[in-house]
Amino acid sequence: MQCMFCFEDFDKLTREHVIPDRILKIFPEQDITIDNEKEYKDSKGMVVHDVCANCNGVLLRALDDYGNPFIRENFLDKFERNSKLTINYDYNFLVRWLLKILYNSARKNKLDLSWYQRYLKFILHNNQENIPKVSIFGGLHVDLTLMGEENQSFGSYYTPLYIVHNPRVMIHGLPYTRSKYISPNKDALRIPHKHDLVKIRFGSAMFFIILWEESAWESRINDFNSVFEVVYPYKLYYSNKQSLVLERVTDEIICVIPDIIHDYNAMEVSNRIISNSLPQESVEASKKIWDEYWTEDKKLEGRLLNEMLLFPDNKKIKLQYDALMKRLGRPDEEQNESTATENEGEDLPFKL
Ligand SMILES: [Zn+2]
Repeated sequence: MQCMFCFEDFDKLTREHVIPDRILKIFPEQDITIDNEKEYKDSKGMVVHDVCANCNGVLLRALDDYGNPFIRENFLDKFERNSKLTINYDYNFLVRWLLKILYNSARKNKLDLSWYQRYLKFILHNNQENIPKVSIFGGLHVDLTLMGEENQSFGSYYTPLYIVHNPRVMIHGLPYTRSKYISPNKDALRIPHKHDLVKIRFGSAMFFIILWEESAWESRINDFNSVFEVVYPYKLYYSNKQSLVLERVTDEIICVIPDIIHDYNAMEVSNRIISNSLPQESVEASKKIWDEYWTEDKKLEGRLLNEMLLFPDNKKIKLQYDALMKRLGRPDEEQNESTATENEGEDLPFKL
């Protein structure tokens, strides 16, 4: 069996997590992880079994030793609408760590691997002879959902971790395409000479990454980067700098839609549409009132009920639900079953 990083043959290969194990562990409450539109419960399935012990335990580990604290130390806080965050970074480590994750995700999702494989010496050994052309943009995820994203139980999931290949970078935005009844694909920005686009969320950290074809001109890439930074809220991690000020890249509409990127204008329109539909002046003001009605226990109950429907075989959720019911002093379903059935029978217009 061949290791997909060093291409040497081994009797046995090891397991490597697509989203690093130590990042998954930061979110123990995290239930659903998205890797390119596939959903995983408890992150099961988000592994590849094709890395040798040396690549995994030494070379890739060194990258995780940079990337995991980078997330843990900067992006576990919740940010607000106007938050700004100055972060320090080591460009070489950051880009190699992210490319390692994307290469894992590409194998898991059976995407084209040739682009990554050209640059494995750079990813593994920081070999500077053949450096990939990459633009890494960063931003902050700010939760602007009405109920709070952890409490989403009406059709959308809480997804603090995801990797999405080929997201749509909208020219006008979803409010525009919806009002014109056109497909979002029709409004997606075409980026010439790109090999792939990737959007990543790790907690409050957002990344938008462009992998450029080798044929892309350096000057065109620079031009694209500088215009993109002005029109869109994502800011570039410059290869020759060590710090960057990040700002919010989410809005009231796209903060639960992983595969869409909005520019400043679409963010403003999204804010106006949602704010106008609320009795209060903003999502934050409505959220405050909502929170007073909905206790933490009520939110948890709603979420667990929803998840039991989604993942009926998951015993962990059932146990959590039973524990909650016990704590609230409510009889569980089984004790209640006989009376419930009788009551329902009385209201039925026909006999079962
Ligand atoms: Zn190897």
